[in-house]
Amino acid sequence: MSARELAEAVRAGSRSARQVIEEALARLDAAAPLNAVAHHDAERALAEADALDAARAAGEPLGPLAGVPVILKDNLWDAGVECSAASESLVGFFPPDSATVVRRLRAAGAVVLARGNMDELGMGSLTARSRFGPAKNPHDLRRSPGGSSGGNAALVAAGVAPIAIGSDTGGSVRQPASWCGVYGLRPTRGLLSRWGLVPLASSMDTVGVITTDPEDLACCLDVMLGADPLDQTTTPRPPWRLDVALREPPRGLRVGLLITPGAEAAPEVSAQVQRAAAALNTMGAIVDGVRLVGLPEALLAYTALCAVEAASNLARFDGQRFGRPAAGDDAEAQARDARARFGDEVRRRVLLGHAIGADRHRRALAAQGRITEAIIGHLDHHDLLICPTTPTVAARLDNAEAGRLADLFTAPASLAGRPALSMPFGVVDGLPVGVQLIGRAYGEEALFTAAAALHAQGASVPEAVEVQPRL
Ligand code: GLN
Repeated sequence: MSARELAEAVRAGSRSARQVIEEALARLDAAAPLNAVAHHDAERALAEADALDAARAAGEPLGPLAGVPVILKDNLWDAGVECSAASESLVGFFPPDSATVVRRLRAAGAVVLARGNMDELGMGSLTARSRFGPAKNPHDLRRSPGGSSGGNAALVAAGVAPIAIGSDTGGSVRQPASWCGVYGLRPTRGLLSRWGLVPLASSMDTVGVITTDPEDLACCLDVMLGADPLDQTTTPRPPWRLDVALREPPRGLRVGLLITPGAEAAPEVSAQVQRAAAALNTMGAIVDGVRLVGLPEALLAYTALCAVEAASNLARFDGQRFGRPAAGDDAEAQARDARARFGDEVRRRVLLGHAIGADRHRRALAAQGRITEAIIGHLDHHDLLICPTTPTVAARLDNAEAGRLADLFTAPASLAGRPALSMPFGVVDGLPVGVQLIGRAYGEEALFTAAAALHAQGASVPEAVEVQPRL
């Protein structure tokens, strides 16, 4: 059931919030084979549900997400609940407050059901590097759900909860959404507050949303967006009508189908992207092919900039401020001990970040400038661009190389600070394919119009594996 339907039932009183959450907890239990959960507290979730039922009984109005179970990525602060971002270095860190987006979700009536498994500190594309162990793809348990918000995408795809909130720096919401056959939105930077999000690369980090349909995506975005005094980079609510955008036909929408020399997706993935573009064309959109060169260079630039910013952000992990106190007689020894808790990938990126000198940093910034200009140039003449979300369908868990090119098509929108939405469109060998729509800054309306039109065409997604309850 969609988030909107659940909330409507709870508001109308045909179902209690407690009932909704009890059922979601049973599904969470049944989804144990996915290893997609970092933490959950059934009693707390039920207490939140009871509070909603009591408010309704007292005649108080309930919000647009009344009683809707949501999954939070393990890098979002929820007051008093351990927030480790799947890293040993943050074990024992209990945030003093909740992230702004989490507070806004609760104010809309949402109930936090669980925290999703992820790659340590957001670094990865497979949800394989986590202190909780690897998560699995509900469409095929031998495959990865993608990452770093892999637990989130897996739980939404398995029908455990209709909404998950993650973070997307280079693709961490879009890529797992693509591999799990669900919707993932990286909104325009500034729309969603990052206050209470464990940072990776601050210039590109965004909070993102994962759902099973475009309406829930819009509804969830709507309750979270808007200026936040705690995050100076946030902007006021745009004068949008997302409800109108979702119903509008894509007639006259100018769509650029990206041709990316030097960056190829698997032919069967490209075929689905072309099928989506053709479907939009049939519905009245004006589609033409546009060239975007330099994706491999953009990926290298993303890797360099991400490492530099991550190394700088992680310098605050000094063994005194977060998590368990580190061992050692002086500050230096404690910092060393704290850093020893990082996993291999985090250490590798910190080293890389420190090794990148001014020259290489400048070259990465120049490459970022080039891809940004090219994308903005195309968006001068197009309402949106369309391309694959990932070069392949979900990788097998034993394929260590798989994550390497996973961000090839997602990094450009991150570097350019543009919004991008991944939606399921078509199936290859029983696995979902993700199509990516990239829009203008604050151009989410066009993304929702196109996504809703394609969704209405019944973009087929394979049924998730029926995960058996534990006995
Ligand atoms: N896979 C990318 C990386 O490893 C994306 C990370 C992210 O968006 N958090 O950097």
